[in-house]
Amino acid sequence: MKKNVLRRNISALLVVFIVMFVGLIVYLGYAVSTYGERWFATVYNPRIQNMKTTIDVGDILDRTGLKLYYTDKDGERKYVDDEDMRVSVAHVVGDEYGLSYGAQTMYAKYLYGLDKGTITRIEDLLSGAERTGSDVKLTIDAALCQTAMDALGGSDGAVVVMNYETGEILASVSSPSFDPTDMSLFLDGGGDSELVNRAFSGLYPPGSTFKLITAAALIENGLEDFETTCSGSTVINGETIACTGEHGDIGLKSAIEHSCNVYFAEAAEALGTHAIKAEADAFLFNTAFLFDDIIMEDSVYESANNDVDAAWAAIGQYHDLITPLHACMIVACIANDGVMMEPKLLHRVLDGGDETYTLEPDVIATPMDDTDALKEMMISVVESGTGTAAQISGVTVGGKTGTAEIDTGDDNETAHAWFVGFIDDAAHPLAIAVIMEEAGSGGKNAAPAAKKVLAKALDLGY
Ligand SMILES: [Zn+2]
Repeated sequence: MKKNVLRRNISALLVVFIVMFVGLIVYLGYAVSTYGERWFATVYNPRIQNMKTTIDVGDILDRTGLKLYYTDKDGERKYVDDEDMRVSVAHVVGDEYGLSYGAQTMYAKYLYGLDKGTITRIEDLLSGAERTGSDVKLTIDAALCQTAMDALGGSDGAVVVMNYETGEILASVSSPSFDPTDMSLFLDGGGDSELVNRAFSGLYPPGSTFKLITAAALIENGLEDFETTCSGSTVINGETIACTGEHGDIGLKSAIEHSCNVYFAEAAEALGTHAIKAEADAFLFNTAFLFDDIIMEDSVYESANNDVDAAWAAIGQYHDLITPLHACMIVACIANDGVMMEPKLLHRVLDGGDETYTLEPDVIATPMDDTDALKEMMISVVESGTGTAAQISGVTVGGKTGTAEIDTGDDNETAHAWFVGFIDDAAHPLAIAVIMEEAGSGGKNAAPAAKKVLAKALDLGY
């Protein structure tokens, strides 16, 4: 009798175990298919660390073929010699300890040859051939990255340059940066935020660059003819919202050109919070970005509960947050007639002479059918508005400045300087986002930095 009870209990336990086991398998299958690349890429994966000694690891190159991290003829792993260039591309290339999320971590499966089929790996094993990884060619141009870092002029911040037709990231820098040849400070647990890639992970208030979204909402909701009068400030629910100037009678184009707060605060009332939230969502705010090539933070646009918060949100203050990469994707989308491309960082994978991966552009959103009016407004910003410092002779530049106020405590107010823009020319499909932390005016500081970087990109033939 006792035996039977025991047997029953054991079989009940067995059923429980089988159910749990099946559940675990299903969960693992789901998790690996959904997050596999990221799990694999994690720096804490000890297999990668162990493999470093047994595999001929592939090189990391920029799009021109310049070696950024490679094995020299003596078999030693080296970074590009030029220190300024090395530091400029450090966040994208990463470090060998995996403390930063660069190519060394993200593309480990190619660099270590783990993308090769099981049969190739068994053949290699049987023939005794040393396992070789593939070379990884990135979309960035290291010389352009160096100019971008230089353009920040020592400010903390970030610059991203994209090809708006393909989504290829031509430059991405984050300041302060680090030198991957000396990671001792970070390995000892020191350092500040040098390892954070602000371009992909830094969440900033978009400030007036968000007015592009509010403008898009006006156009998409048939309110592009909304007009008001700016007398230097407006009062919404008893709270005063000040403007940068006294713009008089003003319509949408002029409001973008001069970045009129009064216009957009009052336009937000006319639109209602739902319409602006819907437009922000269409441009991929509040979206989980799950890309193969890149790990980036999600941007935030919260619906405000009252008119005054809604007005602040419409001019990019309130709780709005965006990464420089997403800001670049948005202007790239406007420049590309309303088609938003997935940002890409992996250009080619080369296994000896064979190209085993080739970048394919992917559309990720089509928030607008027609962006001509927005483009025109942005061109007038650079022609005669707040962004004239971004003018480049010989090409038409469109843009939007932002001076995003931040409270640093103790009643101290300062501002991040933004410039987002593009070159309106199919032969040079370039979009850019520049943010300089606590640098003040976007028009005075970020716009000239953007000009410098775009001019260099043109010089390099992009
Ligand atoms: Zn105004």
